[in-house]
Amino acid sequence: MRDLYADIIVDISHEKLDKTFQYRVPEKLRSTLEPGMCVDIPFGNGNKKIKGYVLAVSEQCKFDPGRTKDILGIAEKGVSVEDKMIALAGWMRKNYGSTMIQALKTVLPARQSFKKLEHRQIERMMGREELISLLGECERKKQVAKAKLLRAVLEQEVIPHEWITGKLGVSVQTIRSLEKAGAIRVNHDSAYRNPVKLAAARDVEKALSTEQQWIVDEFTQEYDVGRRGTYLIHGVTGSGKTEVYMQLIAEILKRGKQAIVLIPEIALTYQTLLRFYKRFGDRVSVMNSTLSPGEKYDQCERAKKGEIDVIIGPRSALFTPFPEIGLIIIDEEHEGSYKSEGTPKYHARETAEEVARLHGASVVLGSATPSIEAYYRAQKGIYQCFRLERRMGGGTLPLVHTVDLRQELKEGNRSIFSRKLQELLADRLAKGEQSILFLNRRGYAGFISCRSCGHVMKCPHCDVSLSEHRGGRLVCHYCGYSEPMPRLCPECGSRYIMGFRAGTQQIEEKLKELFPGVRTLRMDADTTRTKDSYEKLLSAFSNEEADVLIGTQMIVKGHDFPKVTLVGVLAADLSLSIGDYRAGERTFQLLTQAVGRAGRGEKPGEAVIQTYQPEHYAVIHAANQDYEAFYEEEILYRELGGYPPVAHLLAVQVFSAGEAVGKELAERLADVVKSIGDVQVMGPAPASIGKVNDVFRFVCYVKHINYERLVQVKDVLEEKLQEVQTAETTVQFDFDPMRTL
Ligand code: ADP
Ligand code: ZN
Ligand code: ZN
Repeated sequence: MRDLYADIIVDISHEKLDKTFQYRVPEKLRSTLEPGMCVDIPFGNGNKKIKGYVLAVSEQCKFDPGRTKDILGIAEKGVSVEDKMIALAGWMRKNYGSTMIQALKTVLPARQSFKKLEHRQIERMMGREELISLLGECERKKQVAKAKLLRAVLEQEVIPHEWITGKLGVSVQTIRSLEKAGAIRVNHDSAYRNPVKLAAARDVEKALSTEQQWIVDEFTQEYDVGRRGTYLIHGVTGSGKTEVYMQLIAEILKRGKQAIVLIPEIALTYQTLLRFYKRFGDRVSVMNSTLSPGEKYDQCERAKKGEIDVIIGPRSALFTPFPEIGLIIIDEEHEGSYKSEGTPKYHARETAEEVARLHGASVVLGSATPSIEAYYRAQKGIYQCFRLERRMGGGTLPLVHTVDLRQELKEGNRSIFSRKLQELLADRLAKGEQSILFLNRRGYAGFISCRSCGHVMKCPHCDVSLSEHRGGRLVCHYCGYSEPMPRLCPECGSRYIMGFRAGTQQIEEKLKELFPGVRTLRMDADTTRTKDSYEKLLSAFSNEEADVLIGTQMIVKGHDFPKVTLVGVLAADLSLSIGDYRAGERTFQLLTQAVGRAGRGEKPGEAVIQTYQPEHYAVIHAANQDYEAFYEEEILYRELGGYPPVAHLLAVQVFSAGEAVGKELAERLADVVKSIGDVQVMGPAPASIGKVNDVFRFVCYVKHINYERLVQVKDVLEEKLQEVQTAETTVQFDFDPMRTL
């Protein structure tokens, strides 16, 4: 049997990850040793026993095998923050597929530019007499550096650390040895940059409604008898979820623990932050993408030292190195942005549960339209589900009109605005009330439908829609099936069979033609390149600087506009026809949120949903704002198709510089999976965007009822890749993908 060697790191920090040492894996550890494990190793010339972490195991010895030392054994599992981070990275590596280094880089903050802003100082700790005699001793022993430093502190009681190491050229070791001797002290009162700089008045807890109080009581009772779990709060926007989160956090803080609050970046507005800050003061901090790496690092240091105990941020805030997390909250739990697009492609919900397990914490999820995954687990009793039925500030659900666009065409209306929507828009403009026009452009991936009958071209094998490719063919991105683009609709024979092509800009132009003088604001990827412009647009609309706000999905998130009494959804079913098993879920969520934008204030609202598929269950239930009914139908579809959460899906993504080489590797991997036997393999097929920046992309899907089995498949593929992969190709794994590649 060939020897195994392990790459080991001894210092866990982001920038030292690439500095590894190799050790031999002794016989007794061959079958147990895994990346992420903490081991005892002999280190340095004296073979001092220290702890190290395994990054990778291979048969390749990078140094002289004769001089490579053996691992002593598996170390006692510690409980330090570092140990938990390593354990988490190990879990991510295993469950999502990546190297240990990629996983560690995801969970550890990058240091960078930190040093510059730190204000360490060196302070004199001895009396003059004592110092002078110590100085004499150092001079006698020719300890030049020590003497230099002692002379400096004799002159000045407190000296900036950088000055000593920089100008005087005294090493950190010298400083340390004099510190040990009791001559000086290093003050670490670094000036941390707290990004939350608000001088806001403190706010007090609100008296909770019965429904809200019930959640807080149930949670704390369970918590205090040592029961940990995941809770789902299902309640519309404005039903008081955030107030519940804050009181749960208060309970956790009372028990000496810390809390993490995840909020999608787009909903992480100044208003939201202010609410938390008013309640918890400067014990709260924020982690978002606008912070510099140095600021992020500071936040982590403050968390480690116990200077803050609540952090708010998007996905990555999950990796805040708190010593003892008691609660992790995930607001808008259904959001796609909780899934990472980089490797490892982790989902914040599942990862939060693992963080919670490592810390002995509980997880609270909140949403108006829970993900099918979360609701499925709630139905199975894995999560405890709470409902908040009513909006706190009153307000009623809007009256919804569903307009069949096929009928509009039949009756001679070829405009992008249905007659109903035109009528209501005119009414709002006359009354001086505001409207929102929402263009559902998500997943607009060149699918083909009939304008006359609404028929969508679908894959006969996968029940997802086919996408238009160059060369006039329609392709399925799951299995690779293709057929020629039809000239006439196979259902009704109409020649109006085509893709949908309209952007927010065209809608704005058309609106201005229809209503000359209308004041509009446009919110899409083009007009919101910076975070600033997004907030500016929102406040301009709040200040009634426009009558109509036109935008893509980003306008349906988070923000409240009390003066909006009309929402128009143009082409509601665009997102229904993406070649993706989550299309129904995403459409339902978007439509429900969009419709819910109307009537937040005192005046009742109305919404118009324009669609080619008024009979689709996602459209019908969104119009009725009926989540349960939607769930019942959706879960049936998932069961029949064997899609998550009922079963699991692993996407094996191959990227390559040459087309042939990628295709060949994808096929080879698919064959390996097929030989495993009990799993279902689909593809390989070219990705929906088959080539990006001259990189070809192929995908193969593996399905199985058990997630664990797919993890094993991934392991087999990783092993195979060590053998067959060339520098021209990259392979990524995506478990239960949020979207097709
Ligand atoms: P959600 O997070 O579900 O959108 P919020 O917690 O933001 O709901 O509550 C909506 C509004 O109702 C907020 O203005 C909040 O301050 C207020 N609110 C929530 N709970 C209470 C309560 N128990 N008493 C009074 N006002 C409340
Ligand atoms: Zn047709
Ligand atoms: Zn197919």
